[in-house]
Amino acid sequence: MQIEKCKHPTKCDFVGCKNLADYQFSTKGILKRELAFCESCLQEMYLEISKMQIPKPVEAPFKLPKRLKKEEK
Ligand SMILES: [Zn+2]
Repeated sequence: MQIEKCKHPTKCDFVGCKNLADYQFSTKGILKRELAFCESCLQEMYLEISKMQIPKPVEAPFKLPKRLKKEEK
């Protein structure tokens, strides 16, 4: 599942929203059809999701393994 930029002008799927969709869920058949939504609906979704998910601290991706430091002794 991934979110990608809308290639064609589509209306936002959220009820009550009259914006054009900027993004869509590329679901590869998981949903019946692709869900399109605009920037502000994306923000709202994100806010709702972040209320449920406790953010985990992200580890530094390029931490040096300890064994590479032994030359400093
Ligand atoms: Zn919208």
